[in-house]
Amino acid sequence: MAEVIPHWLSKQAELAPNQTAIERPDGNTCTFLELKNKSQSFARKLSGLGVQNNTKVGILSANHIDMVVAIHALSYLGAVAVLLNIRLTEQELNDQLNDAGVSLVLGQLHDRNLNATFHKFSDVWELPERTGKLQSEIDLDAVFTIIYTSGTTGFPKGVVHTYGNHWWSAVGSMLNLGLRARDKWLAVLPIFHVGGLAILIRSVIYGMPVYLMEHYNRQLVHDAIMTRGVTIASVVTVMVNDLLTLLGDKRYPDTFRCMLLGGGPAPKSLLEQAKAKQVPVFQSYGMTETSSQIVTLSPDDALEKLGSSGKPLFPAQLQINAIGDEVGEIFVKGPMVTQGYFNREQATNKSIIDGWLATGDLGYTDQDGFLYVVDRRKDLIISGGENIYPTEIESVLASFDGIHEAGVVGKPDKKWGQVPVAFVVRRQASVSTEAILDFARERLAGYKIPKAIIFLDELPRNASNKLVRSKLAEHLNDNDSRKSLTY
Ligand code: ATP
Ligand code: MG
Repeated sequence: MAEVIPHWLSKQAELAPNQTAIERPDGNTCTFLELKNKSQSFARKLSGLGVQNNTKVGILSANHIDMVVAIHALSYLGAVAVLLNIRLTEQELNDQLNDAGVSLVLGQLHDRNLNATFHKFSDVWELPERTGKLQSEIDLDAVFTIIYTSGTTGFPKGVVHTYGNHWWSAVGSMLNLGLRARDKWLAVLPIFHVGGLAILIRSVIYGMPVYLMEHYNRQLVHDAIMTRGVTIASVVTVMVNDLLTLLGDKRYPDTFRCMLLGGGPAPKSLLEQAKAKQVPVFQSYGMTETSSQIVTLSPDDALEKLGSSGKPLFPAQLQINAIGDEVGEIFVKGPMVTQGYFNREQATNKSIIDGWLATGDLGYTDQDGFLYVVDRRKDLIISGGENIYPTEIESVLASFDGIHEAGVVGKPDKKWGQVPVAFVVRRQASVSTEAILDFARERLAGYKIPKAIIFLDELPRNASNKLVRSKLAEHLNDNDSRKSLTY
């Protein structure tokens, strides 16, 4: 029999009607009861547009309150939310709309030519409410969202999430971080990424306020942590960097208990800096396929196990399929892991075997079972039989004062098979190749020293701001790479 729970927002509106659900920087707040009423009203308006059970509806928006309402409204109709990254190009957006079979998109104003009917949230509010039955229960096996992977290693794939995936993700997170009466979670990560969406779902399940920020602004995030009672914030590496700089010699309030860091690798130097400033950074590991974090450091281990992503959350399991030394491909399993990619049976069968998801990432566990993520399997460089992980080199280079950021790829080499080559964005033009290599030689074994340093103005990044190493690799084939390398 299907596992059914009461609709989570209706339930929370009953349990804690006057509790704040959403708080915004302008001081506006909305309680769980108000959020439920708004979402149900929006659902009744949407049904006039033909949205019903299983309709796939695209959402193209920054973190606006109407986006939150729209997502809950879709759940009241049993419809599926296809969350779209607002930074995608027109072509990329249309690819995802076609792939997911979406013909209706809701959102804020945009200037793209979409292969679907677009309705602004504000226009939907003008529609009359239709009478009709809304979902009062949630079937945990039903599909709630489709979110595309970032497309860092290939074409983005639509990850299908059930309500159960999101439910277990929220439960798993709470069993690790705990829940305190005063908790308020900062949502500045885009909700169209699973890491942002997960905050909204935790809010509804825990009865916890979300501090919702529409766009990332380092000063506003800093102020929110300093003065607005935020206790937990989900962040990515660049934000930690910015925030530590803004923090200077000051300290965050003691009530700020967790800076949950995910989405990609973090240089150890950054984590050490955070530790020195007593900023409680908890590294986590996850992906769109795992409905956000699946492995996370616990409050007790955060300082001891710097650089580790922690242990699998309570409902999750982890396995490393070693490929030689102790490093191997990371496999994860658990009820927050997707059952597959939309319309991609082959890719699904390749990635999910007996319930275990092959993540495509490499890592190892230490003797205490803590995970260290090393790199993507596709980006591994093998030089003279030695494994080289580009992230390790990038992280060392990025810790050099004169370097803003670095990307490393393998270049085919007659003698060694492959050799590492670094693409570097300098802070000042005076930083020389020799100075960089001297710095690297003190910190890296000989075979890891880049055989060439190529200076760029910018590194190629995708709409999720992730480094796309395959684009760097393409330039290695150019004969006159130095000149053509501007993005
Ligand atoms: P695609 O799957 O389309 O190539 P993507 O993998 O970048 O894109 P996401 O689901 O947004 O899409 O990102 C998940 C990936 O981010 C993980 O598979 C991993 O490579 C990386 N990642 C997440 N957390 C960490 C971490 N703690 N350390 C290192 N890498 C991480
Ligand atoms: Mg991926």
